[in-house]
Amino acid sequence: MYELAGESTLVYQEIARKVSKERGIKTINFGIGQPDVVTFKRIRDSAIQALEQGFTGYTPALGLDELREKIAQYLTVNYGDVKKDNVIVTPGAKTALFLGFLLFINPGDEVIMQDPSFYSYAEVVRLLGGKPVFLKLNMNQNGFSHDFEAIERLISPKTKMLVINNPHNPTGSLFDPHEIERLMEISKEKKIILMSDEIYDNFVYEGKMKSVLEDPSWTDYVLYINGFSKTFSMTGWRLGYVVAREDVIKKMGVLAGNIYTCPTSFAQKGAISSFDSFDNVKEMINLFKKRRDVMFNELQKVKKIRVIKPNGAFYMFPYIGELLRDLKMEVKDFSVELIKSKGVITIPGEVFPKDVGKDFVRLSFAVKEEDIKEGITKIAEFVDEKS
Ligand code: PLP
Repeated sequence: MYELAGESTLVYQEIARKVSKERGIKTINFGIGQPDVVTFKRIRDSAIQALEQGFTGYTPALGLDELREKIAQYLTVNYGDVKKDNVIVTPGAKTALFLGFLLFINPGDEVIMQDPSFYSYAEVVRLLGGKPVFLKLNMNQNGFSHDFEAIERLISPKTKMLVINNPHNPTGSLFDPHEIERLMEISKEKKIILMSDEIYDNFVYEGKMKSVLEDPSWTDYVLYINGFSKTFSMTGWRLGYVVAREDVIKKMGVLAGNIYTCPTSFAQKGAISSFDSFDNVKEMINLFKKRRDVMFNELQKVKKIRVIKPNGAFYMFPYIGELLRDLKMEVKDFSVELIKSKGVITIPGEVFPKDVGKDFVRLSFAVKEEDIKEGITKIAEFVDEKS
């Protein structure tokens, strides 16, 4: 049987659920990886209507033409020229990532990815017999950044792919457009596939979002990943997409037909309406920006925690290395003890492979303002009590 290397964020939700049930303490969940709002009404109504009209059968494996067309239009307006035939709709962005890895990674292939990175990348690469190769992100005054000399060193004849995520989970970094351009240049020059996961592209608070689709030659080397989960708060609907060259998309359609047939029919009908919901998206982003500022200010008051204000996504990634050394604790124990004694859920950075995260915890600010204040106060109490 395949041996899993890591764990997902769900482990910590489960510990909290148990603690809350056994001891009846209130939990404050900074571990949450989804917006805390219900999917916007327009989208829900369209799905309900589809169900009532009996739209309950299979759809094409690539997804509904109308939805693929809408996705292509959205990307063309915002980033670069994308056609319907460049798009496959998938059950969530995780499946979009999976199809990308499945199609291209052979045993022994190396895949360079950011350290820290979304846990699914390394796990799936390993599952396929590939080798994750980690590129440490550097933390500086303004955020996290890529070390270009290190990338050059890590590229080998076996390197098949470079995976990037921007805006970034877990650090909340929105990478400088010049960095993204450099990564695009390196991928082209070294003839490696650039898989760019841009699922947080609408969660930008300051600065400019640079998409890899802005390169007019993107079809030569890009696998672009996005989805509906975060932007439209549709995590449970399971809808994502891959954008790639037309022949790649056709092959993914064959894989899709063999693995899961198609994405859910009525969910896709709902998603068609999502592109008319950007007024709701804007409102949500403004709310998140406010919460980000509250969390950042509150965290300044906790001793021995160093945090950079993130420009994107909805995560903060405080450095607690010094604190852990003082407390003689590993980050995992820090998160587990914090849940057990205060009911506050954080995700230990080590969930996001490979090494950098061992000195960090991830906190989501997709949480009500009063809970942010209460939760950070409890973290401060925990630190005081333990010190
Ligand atoms: N990519 C990143 C960077 C994520 O953070 C997530 C969800 O947490 C996903 C992909 C998966 O999205 P989905 O729920 O659409 O599968």
